[in-house]
Amino acid sequence: MAVVYYSSCPVCQYTQLQPFVTSKDYAVSGETYQIVRCEQCKTALTQNSPDVANIGQYYQAESYISHSNTRKGLINNLYHIVRNYMLGRKKTLTEQVTAVKEGKLLDIGCGTGYFLDTMQQTGWQVQGIEVEEKARNFAIQSFGLQVNSPEVLPTLQPESFDVITLWHVLEHLHNLNSYLNQLLQLLQPQGTLIIAVPNYDSYDAKHYGKEWAGWDVPRHLWHFCPTSIDILAQRHELRVVQRHLMPFDSFYVSLLSEKYKNNSWSILSGFWHGAWSLLQAWQNPKKASSVIYVLKKI
Ligand SMILES: [Zn+2]
Repeated sequence: MAVVYYSSCPVCQYTQLQPFVTSKDYAVSGETYQIVRCEQCKTALTQNSPDVANIGQYYQAESYISHSNTRKGLINNLYHIVRNYMLGRKKTLTEQVTAVKEGKLLDIGCGTGYFLDTMQQTGWQVQGIEVEEKARNFAIQSFGLQVNSPEVLPTLQPESFDVITLWHVLEHLHNLNSYLNQLLQLLQPQGTLIIAVPNYDSYDAKHYGKEWAGWDVPRHLWHFCPTSIDILAQRHELRVVQRHLMPFDSFYVSLLSEKYKNNSWSILSGFWHGAWSLLQAWQNPKKASSVIYVLKKI
């Protein structure tokens, strides 16, 4: 299988990539991956991750729920309750930070389309990009959305979107820099980019170490912290104008991490550490389990 190995940092080209953590694919393959970190820009990356042609098989497990609608198990149930709350919060945040109502939105990695549907119902013109065919068809058939595979990106009208959103998507993208460049061409000069990603500088990441669910190797190719996002932004002539926490990610990630640890007190312990993580993030969103970054062009 063809894999991707980096001898220098793809974000800043620095050649000092230091071993950071070694984690396991708990969700699908059981394989172990090394994560290294660039000592200059603090971006961490998964070494020897499957290339674009081979990553698909790592998204096949039933337990990988990001794009599914299964309702089995406590964690999945919680996920669905929380999803509805988060849809409302994402809508409010998008409208606040863009100062636009009924604008034009592109959601990258839109999955089954729930967020796009929420925005469409409030009058936005929406469009989605989704690599997975089943999720794409679900979004089109269930909500009548316009959702395409990533190949259509170059055909979209330049500078035509008020906002482009990537909810837990950036960490999955091969060719990070070129993909971001492509998106920035589609964004209006005054437009807003919203990126939500796990934060390896969070309390829960430090507490769970190699068993932290936010590593999610090899599906997560990149691992970010607030400093690394600031530097990535600068390199793309962007600036971070706001950071927000995702309150339920603290609990979700902690509960999942406990499951990976096979802890018999996993639910109690997961809630406890999730609550502690959230408390830290409330005081400082840079410590949140996942951070929503709001970016504008410089
Ligand atoms: Zn770097």
